[in-house]
Amino acid sequence: MTYREKEKQIPLNDRYDVIVVGSGPSGMSASVTAARNGMKVLLIEWQGSVGGISTTGLMSHFTGTCDSKLYREILQYSADKNPYNTGECTIAIDPELLKITYCEMLRAAGVDLLLYTFCCGAITDNNRLTGIITEGKSGRMAYTAQIIIDCTGDGDVAAKAGAEYFKGRESDGKMQPATLMFKVGGVDYSRAVFPGSFETEVQTEKGELQALARKKLPSPAGHVLLYKSSLPGIVTCNMTNCTDIDGTITEDLTRAELTCRSQMEPIVSFLREYAPGYENCYIISAASLIGIRETRHFKGVSQLTETDILEARQFDDAVVKGAHFNFDVHNITGAGLDKTGVQKEFSQENGYTIPYGCLVPEKVDGLLLSGRNISGTHMAHSNFRAMPICVGIGEACGAAAALSVKQRKNLRDIDAESIQKLIF
Ligand SMILES: Cc1cc2nc3c(=O)[nH]c(=O)nc-3n(C[C@H](O)[C@H](O)[C@H](O)COP(=O)(O)OP(=O)(O)OC[C@H]3O[C@@H](n4cnc5c(N)ncnc54)[C@H](O)[C@@H]3O)c2cc1C
Repeated sequence: MTYREKEKQIPLNDRYDVIVVGSGPSGMSASVTAARNGMKVLLIEWQGSVGGISTTGLMSHFTGTCDSKLYREILQYSADKNPYNTGECTIAIDPELLKITYCEMLRAAGVDLLLYTFCCGAITDNNRLTGIITEGKSGRMAYTAQIIIDCTGDGDVAAKAGAEYFKGRESDGKMQPATLMFKVGGVDYSRAVFPGSFETEVQTEKGELQALARKKLPSPAGHVLLYKSSLPGIVTCNMTNCTDIDGTITEDLTRAELTCRSQMEPIVSFLREYAPGYENCYIISAASLIGIRETRHFKGVSQLTETDILEARQFDDAVVKGAHFNFDVHNITGAGLDKTGVQKEFSQENGYTIPYGCLVPEKVDGLLLSGRNISGTHMAHSNFRAMPICVGIGEACGAAAALSVKQRKNLRDIDAESIQKLIF
């Protein structure tokens, strides 16, 4: 059954050069970089706070690295803010302080911000994206801009604009599982264990912790990932798990949220019983945004592959450099790690680069792909989805957008060297 909506006139705002949709690590850096390069920028975010998975998703820490000035700036800015920090940069995230950091950086750069605003449509003219439609408390709005940067993680704008994509693994379309991050307090740090990867085994008096988790936790939960926070006695748990989720389907998002939430109490009981240092731990907060790892992969002018990463390839038209992380594919059908994502077998120590073409959709003009929704294979994505690399990608997008507006050139005609000059 369908319902035909009535056509209606809606307000149109055409004051912006660049619109960024999604304020995660890549949207944040794309907005700041475009604004610092003279653009009038509007950042649109569905949630009530900025930062995407890095903050609203209650993230534990930045993993991997990227040779990005903005990434270093974010770490330093957050370190300077943290009263528990000695001033040293740390990769551990305090989500509330990171939100404040992001807000201050956006304000200083002169970015206009609209929270609680969902981008639900694209305005196109032949193969060009010229604007977006949004929904919010004040109703439906249209915005036009010369360049629109899709930092939604799922590529919502690009999909609406008609850019080609595939979902998940090339072989069967299956996507990485979802996780609701949460924090526990009351942990005795002097005795606590912090298994930071699926492959970290912890021997306790009652047995090996990962093996116990596989046996005791409600499936598909069943692994132990615990991270130190920058706050005393507080630990971030990356342990809830929901498989068979498509993060672009509302019913699936709801199921993931409910499944993960139902695992939280059993996980805390497990930690209290089996994990040294967690005997008195209790839940203090859970993410208000479910953690979706993987959805759409778009078809760009170029595509980043597993081999590019394994060979630490240095592209001439690179716009992201010094990107480093292992492949990180969570088990698509259960707990733990997928066999393709064995982290200890990743031996490349050198950073790789990402060519500009991965940010430019093959067929749609006026649009840049950013963060985890750039053009790459399922395996490459499991690596570049790490937040430092997403910051580097956003930085490149912000610079490319500014150059395109200033030089009055199509995005695909922008020379990667001129982007490099702005951000490297
Ligand atoms: C559970 C989990 C654990 C992870 N652990 C780590 C880790 O330890 N370290 C690490 O470095 N990386 C980690 N990652 C990966 C990393 O967090 C993400 O890949 C990264 O945040 C992606 O950045 P992004 O800017 O592309 O998108 P996101 O951070 O996903 O942000 C997208 C933003 O867009 C907004 N949005 C979405 N759709 C719309 C729309 N239609 N309209 C308006 N706004 C919209 C969202 O609300 C969100 O704020 C983890 C990811 C998950 C899910």
